[in-house]
Amino acid sequence: MNSPSLINVLDLGAEELKNKFKELGFEPYRAGQVLQWVYKKGVYDFSRMTNLSLDLREKFKKSFLLAMPEVVEREVSEDGNSLKLLLKLEDNHLIETVYIRSDDRHTVCVSSQAGCKFHCAFCASGQNGFFRNLTASEIVVQVLMARDISSSKKITNIVFMGIGEPLDNYGQLMKAIRILNSKNAFGIGARKMTISTCGVIPKIEALSAEGIQIELAVSLHGPNDTVRGAIMPVNNTYPVKSLVEACRQYIKKTKRVITFEYILVKGVNASEKEARELSRLLKGISATKRRRISPKRRFVDGSDTPFGGLCKVNLIPYNPIQEFFHDAPSYDEIVQFQKILQSNGIKTTVRFSKGQDIQAACGQLRSVKLTGNNK
Ligand code: SAH
Repeated sequence: MNSPSLINVLDLGAEELKNKFKELGFEPYRAGQVLQWVYKKGVYDFSRMTNLSLDLREKFKKSFLLAMPEVVEREVSEDGNSLKLLLKLEDNHLIETVYIRSDDRHTVCVSSQAGCKFHCAFCASGQNGFFRNLTASEIVVQVLMARDISSSKKITNIVFMGIGEPLDNYGQLMKAIRILNSKNAFGIGARKMTISTCGVIPKIEALSAEGIQIELAVSLHGPNDTVRGAIMPVNNTYPVKSLVEACRQYIKKTKRVITFEYILVKGVNASEKEARELSRLLKGISATKRRRISPKRRFVDGSDTPFGGLCKVNLIPYNPIQEFFHDAPSYDEIVQFQKILQSNGIKTTVRFSKGQDIQAACGQLRSVKLTGNNK
């Protein structure tokens, strides 16, 4: 166990680390040197930070630590483009992180909690219940480890779509995002990070006040309370219409486009009737924003219709998990669903998930806690 009095460098932003250094009597510019080693060179051991004197390295070790989780397992998909890491945290919780390569994009899919309390019927992550929130450093370290182990020189995108509900761990998530965004730390643009939420309205409101240009994806998965409520218990607390209204306000305030994620499950939410209902639901958002946002903004996502620029829909064919006995619709049904949305002016893409063969696709990640004899 690490000593609780040691400060984890990965929990601090550049300014905070500088202040901590000052407070402990170290020259503040040393903080920048340490951050260079960690974020740019992937060196997590003070002993190897060779531009610091030996004496300083020893002193740092007495106040700071760089805790790296143990890699319990690493799996590469058949096509070689996805890498799933099973990481063991200090208290033996296991979480998963996925690295995905596609053309020039190098994406890390990060977990924000050990387990999940939202129990969406189709998602593996909540099936074992909720354990705890991750700390900022446990979030940040996933990106570093995925970068290092995949040997990807540059991570271009980070998606908070792994295990857990990011907005249910708001404080630590925002802290991690600021560290990842900071030029003096990881240095990835805010627009290259996407938070995906199951629809926690108060936190969507909080996010709209942050003044950060992050991407927001909202898991909708049903056009009305009956369909959505049957597969997403969170809908009992935050029903569809209130959620859509919160999104409308978010767009109005931030002037940013929202992506609605919609998994397609045959016989559950993927009929033509549901596609039409979803179109009506989202057209409502579009109309309100259309009056308020300049024409230039309206087409920000490349859409060719006045409605489509305000939000977009990402259809995700359901990736099977053992607890939810359903299938994705056929390819033709998926295309038909997409066409209905598009004919209503809603920009719609289909995301065929990667990494299914190693259970690394959307919704297939799970966490457990190691106990007793399997520790
Ligand atoms: N809790 C957040 C982020 C984690 S899930 C959220 O709900 O958005 C990331 C995305 O994968 C969400 O859109 C989620 O609904 C989707 N997903 C979950 N299980 C899935 C499955 N079995 N097949 C396809 N997508 C799934």
